[in-house]
Amino acid sequence: MAVITLGNVTAIENRPSPVGSIGQPPTGAAGVLLDAAVTTRCRRRVHLDHDPTAIGSPRALPDPSLEQRREDAAAHRARIGERIAAANGAAWHVVPATGPTRERIAATAAAVDAGAQLIWGAVLPDIGSSGRRGGVELLVRVSGGGYVPVIVVRHRITDPGSGALTSPLVEPWPRRAGADPQRKVRSQPRDLLRLAHLNRMLRAAGWTPVPEQLHGDHGGVIGMDADVVVWHDLRAGHWPGARSTLAEYDSRFADRVAVATAAATGAPAMAAPSRITECRHCPWWPTCEAELERVDDVSLVVRGEPAVALRDVGVQTVAHLAALDPAAEPPIAAPGAPFADMIALARARQRGLSVVRRVPRMPVLRADIEVDVDMESFGESGAYLWGVLLRHPGGTRPDDEPDGYRAFATWEPVPTEDEGRSFAEFWSWLTGIRDAAAATGRSFAAYCYNEQAENRWLLASARRFVGLPGVPPIADVEAFIADPCWVDLFAVVSDWFLCAHGKGLKRIAPAAGFAWRDPEAGGENSMRWYRDAVGMDGAAPDEHQRRRLLEYNADDVAATRALREWMTSPAIDEVPLAAEL
Ligand code: SF4
Repeated sequence: MAVITLGNVTAIENRPSPVGSIGQPPTGAAGVLLDAAVTTRCRRRVHLDHDPTAIGSPRALPDPSLEQRREDAAAHRARIGERIAAANGAAWHVVPATGPTRERIAATAAAVDAGAQLIWGAVLPDIGSSGRRGGVELLVRVSGGGYVPVIVVRHRITDPGSGALTSPLVEPWPRRAGADPQRKVRSQPRDLLRLAHLNRMLRAAGWTPVPEQLHGDHGGVIGMDADVVVWHDLRAGHWPGARSTLAEYDSRFADRVAVATAAATGAPAMAAPSRITECRHCPWWPTCEAELERVDDVSLVVRGEPAVALRDVGVQTVAHLAALDPAAEPPIAAPGAPFADMIALARARQRGLSVVRRVPRMPVLRADIEVDVDMESFGESGAYLWGVLLRHPGGTRPDDEPDGYRAFATWEPVPTEDEGRSFAEFWSWLTGIRDAAAATGRSFAAYCYNEQAENRWLLASARRFVGLPGVPPIADVEAFIADPCWVDLFAVVSDWFLCAHGKGLKRIAPAAGFAWRDPEAGGENSMRWYRDAVGMDGAAPDEHQRRRLLEYNADDVAATRALREWMTSPAIDEVPLAAEL
């Protein structure tokens, strides 16, 4: 039996009450209408979203790449809809995509009453004030009557392997499904919980098959590859403790209804802020951060489940954690990070230290010829800029390229084939420098900060633009990534330092004495600048924002250079050791 791996979803499950049970869908208070997303969302966020007194509280600016992601997802859905429609003719029924919700619900109900086989763009009714709202890309009528949901998502839902229950994309019926010899299911808890949400709405409306009917509690997912429909039995015990998806969903949804209702009615809050992974991209972070700092909350140092565990044993504050003895038996089991590191982080935070050394010294690869690399991408759409900073610490020779910054960019909005041109130019330049070093008997190293992003777009660019002049074979890129000359400074920092305010380059480089020229430099702002730089919103391309992006990228590579030079200089001895705090 495949058990759901929750990944970072666990972090947002901050201790709801165990309520709700399979077969008895929970009911919500009138006035609170929740979509499926709340079941994987931070409980405090659900509270703040429904607390009328929080309306004026500080919020972060919206993620500028969100709009693009929405557009991409809409285009993906539309393409899939066209393909299924083309293959199914008279069975296909479309609910208007615009207009008041009640009219779209009525149009869906009319299609159900008419027994339509495939209903695209359905909007479901909130029957019995259950507190639910939601729509589904496709409703599929099954043999014997009733509908099951099929959702369309823009992420991968299978991996190579076998055993997934799939049907052909253009035959989206569970009776057409069979065990797939080439695909296994990739764990996507959010998809399962959304299917359960839709199942509950369909059941409340009386639109599902009878429960004992074959496939009565199935739901389908069409993913990024849009090659098949993957079917899930929502009664199968895929969750920890062999709970079914429906039982897991019922428990979570009832809890979120209670949280939202308490917030909306002014009852005592059922969810307090606690720093988790989701905070990084949450609009409420400015509000929560202020509250956490006001009470010196322990999650400012230790995020996620360990913070909850520490509070459970009475360690509520950073000050309390800092006062513990690192040599004593840890009060909680916290896999992943040594408990002494948590205490050292708390002490560092108290002293206003952004970094402390975990060990006295750690080697950082240096070379005769060094290149710092930083790639800029726009969401999932593409990589528009590869910036490099060339240095010759081992001394220059007559044929060497001059030291300094270079940018390989496309200013056509991504995705564009022109990315292939700029990527090929970058790759040719980088490998040319590397080959010249080898030909002259000198060492070479290239550096980035957090290789995941660079590696992802190195590989993706080689795949997407295969065959274009200068684009390398995938094997060449893989060999480069595996070569010790490609150094991820983030990994070095993670091994060597404890960082009280995070390990991002913007956090750590100032410790090395580096400052960005642009006070607004940052990943999210760069997304906004990029939209203007390429005229993404219909305006003329903004040359000023292009220069700003290039300057920002040049500073990023200068920051990684400053960081590694600092780490290999005597100045590093001035950074306190964790053991000395
Ligand atoms: S900032 Fe963090 S704790 Fe606050 S609502 Fe968002 S995710 Fe929850």
